[in-house]
Amino acid sequence: MIIAIDGPSGAGKSTLGKMLAKKLNLLYLDTGAMYRAVGLAVLESGVGFEDKAKVAEIAENAKIELIGEPDSLQIYLNGRDVTREIRTNEVGQAASIVSTISEVRRILVEHQRTIGTSAPNGCVLDGRDIGTVVFPKADVKFFLTAVPEARARRRYEEDLARGLDTTYEKTFAEIKERDERDVSRADSPLSIAEDAVVIDTSELSLSEVFERMSEIVRETEKERCETS
Ligand code: C5P
Repeated sequence: MIIAIDGPSGAGKSTLGKMLAKKLNLLYLDTGAMYRAVGLAVLESGVGFEDKAKVAEIAENAKIELIGEPDSLQIYLNGRDVTREIRTNEVGQAASIVSTISEVRRILVEHQRTIGTSAPNGCVLDGRDIGTVVFPKADVKFFLTAVPEARARRRYEEDLARGLDTTYEKTFAEIKERDERDVSRADSPLSIAEDAVVIDTSELSLSEVFERMSEIVRETEKERCETS
């Protein structure tokens, strides 16, 4: 079972992806964390983002590991725990810049496909191109979205809970900038897969969205049993 969850920042993808993975006993893969890890590696290397060949080399050589249960997932970059470091706005922007480089995408997509297909029971992946590029034949595809104000509010509250020094205005501006880059890039822009179920989470509670998603997964499982 492969479940794809795509959508812009702050739409609830990771929270709901983790909840679904736990409920269904599937692996959870946060693909954004992988782009963030590459973004951090580039920032630390001193290489300029415009040097695409060097950035791709860094992505190729970066050993990115996601370890642990969905709720306590830890991200390692070359053996170092970077779980907290990759959540800053600076690294978010770096991730969004490196994600426009085709070679970086190729490397990470390959990695994501390997992890997804080797998970024993299946995998829930959240990102921007899961249902369109990484797993175009995913069993279930969701596209979660929400108005920018709601997304910025959620991201801001998450950042505060993580102890980051930020403001709502900064978060709003950062989300808008990343969204614009994600939808306008040439390679794998953020878009809605034809067969995705679109859920606008602006006015829904977490449990309402989770219930809808669970129901759709249940229906898919039922259909699969009936046809097999
Ligand atoms: O999901 P998150 O906000 O952590 O992702 C950070 C950045 O990585 C996004 O703004 C996006 O530019 C990029 N990304 C991507 N494709 C994915 C996941 C993330 O381009 N599948």
